[in-house]
Formats: sequence, C-alpha cells, structure tokens
Amino acid sequence: MIELEHPTAHGRSRASSALPREIVVVGSVALDNVETPFGRVENALGGSATYFATAASFYAPVKLVGVVGDDFPPEHVDFLRQRRVDLAGLEVIQGGRTFRWSGRYEYDLNTAHTLDTQLNVFAEFSPKLPATYRQPGLLFLANIAPELQRAVLEQIERPELVALDTMNFWISSRRDALAEVMRCVDVVLINEAEARQFADTYSLLGAARTILELGPKAVIIKKGEYGASMFTDGEHPGETYFFAPAYPLETVKDPTGAGDTFAGGFLGALAREPVLDTAAFRRAIVHGSVMASFTVEDFSVNRLRALTPDEIGRRFAEFQAFTQF
Ligand code: AMP
Repeated sequence: MIELEHPTAHGRSRASSALPREIVVVGSVALDNVETPFGRVENALGGSATYFATAASFYAPVKLVGVVGDDFPPEHVDFLRQRRVDLAGLEVIQGGRTFRWSGRYEYDLNTAHTLDTQLNVFAEFSPKLPATYRQPGLLFLANIAPELQRAVLEQIERPELVALDTMNFWISSRRDALAEVMRCVDVVLINEAEARQFADTYSLLGAARTILELGPKAVIIKKGEYGASMFTDGEHPGETYFFAPAYPLETVKDPTGAGDTFAGGFLGALAREPVLDTAAFRRAIVHGSVMASFTVEDFSVNRLRALTPDEIGRRFAEFQAFTQF
C-alpha cells in the first residue's frame, strides 16, 4: 500500500484509524484474447474485478468476490495474492471453465469491439460472501451480470459508498435488472457510448440526468483518451460538473481495463479520504485517470506489475500542474 503524497495536503488530518477503508469488489475474473494495432495477447489475465482490485490495492485493502474454473493459471492467483488482494471470496469450480472475453480495437483505440464473450462459470455463479466481507467501507459492483451485482449488495451491511460499472453487453441483454441495481447505488461509472445506449439519447448531459433520476448521487462518464466527466445534482456548475482530462501518452498499447483501473484508482483514493465530499471525489477522479493511464501502456495488467507508489504520486502531481489555471 502506498503512502500517497497528498492525503493531508488539504488541511485535514487523517484522524480516523478506520482509514483506509476496506473495499469489496465483485466482477469478472477472466482470460482475455485482445488484439490492438500494436499487438495481441491470448489467455491474458483480465476481468473487471481483476483490473479493479489490482489498481485499488495500491491504495487500500481489497477483498474480491468472483469465480474461476480449474483452468485458471495459478500464477494469476499468485499475482493477486502478491498485491495483497483477499481471495477468500474467489471460488474455484473444479471441472469449470473460466470466463473468457475476446476483443479487438481499431486504430483510434477508443472503442472495444467484442468478438466473443463466454460466461462459463459465471453463468451459474451464486456468490456466498465470507463473513469477513460483510462490512466493507466501500463496495464496487464491477462490470458483471446485474443479478450478481445485486446478490452481493444484498449480503453486505450498507457501506459508506457503493459504486457500479457496467457495459453494452448487459445494457442490451439485462437493461431492467441493471436499472434496478442502479437505483441502489451512490455512484455509476459508465463509458460514453454505454451512457448513450442506456439512456437512448445522444446527449451525455441528458444520459447523466436519466441515471441520476434513478437515485445515484453522481455519474462518472468515461471518455477514453478524452478523460472523464462527473455529473451530480446541484445548483451551480461548480457543484454539478467536473471534467478531468486523460493523461497525455505517446504510447498506448492496449486500452483493456482502463475503465476498471480508473474505478480502482477512484475508489482506492476515496478509501483514504476522511470525508467523502465533492473535493474528495475530484481528487479521486484524478487518481482514477492516473491508474488508467498506466494500465493502457501495456497489455493485460503488465504495466501494473512493476508500478511503484512514487510513479503514481508523480503522475498525480503532473495532473495537478497541467490542469491548473
Ligand atoms: P474495461 O475496463 O471496460 O476495458 O474492461 C475490460 C475487461 O472487462 C476485460 O478484461 C474483460 O475480461 C471484461 N469483460 C468483457 N466483457 C465482459 C462482460 N460482459 N461482463 C464482465 N466482464 C467483461
């Protein structure tokens, strides 16, 4: 876990010994085949929960809920263990096959084209959370079937904050179930094409409003290399919108996992904040952007394997410098 350079930089002390808060995440743990203009990987470690947990583990203790088959390579389990991710909630199904996703990106790298999704062990998964998972500070319902997101939410004492992510696959096939879970969460993270698809409108502002009307306090719309926007209910633009650019990179190899590691940096940073107010959300969005920027520099979680707390701190400081005016 890192000692970030800024936790007390805003005049507040980290008085509470409850910090950082524990984070529980449910989502996919996957083997991915990915092709970009800059290379390809097969059976690479992927999945929304994997990317999220890896990124968030730089900030806070993370407990993962998910399922894999007995084809899941032990070195991937070892990697997550090395990142100190609690895997008591990761079920291994003997004779089962791990979730698999195949995707391809065009030259601009902004849109993932799904070639194949095999739910495999996730099709029948019914999570039973270990007792040690039931009182987290924060809960992340990463991209997975909305029914599974709900099943986890229902087994947990109401945390301080619940956030949810999703994707076109679930919006097309399970829109009503997804809207039901959105009603129960505080923050929805979604990418721009999916926001438009969910709300059936071109306008991102309109899409954000549609989601806010379901009940969440904030909607964060991710726009790939163009950054992320947060929309909240409020009277003044200063309260209602926040826009963060993406970190300018000359080399991007594979955008897979950018959204999930954005969420990992975002919730990870919130886990360390004494008060979850607007200013904390803004700092957390920049941490999300920092973590996503590292992820896309290499395939799978490879860039995160060697990442150091110092690099995270330096990139955060650069963000502060280049967004100041
Ligand atoms: P992203 O951050 O959106 O790029 O997430 C990429 C990860 O999502 C990949 O590692 C995939 O294994 C995973 N994924 C793709 N499709 C699905 C799906 N329908 N449900 C859950 N996870 C998925």
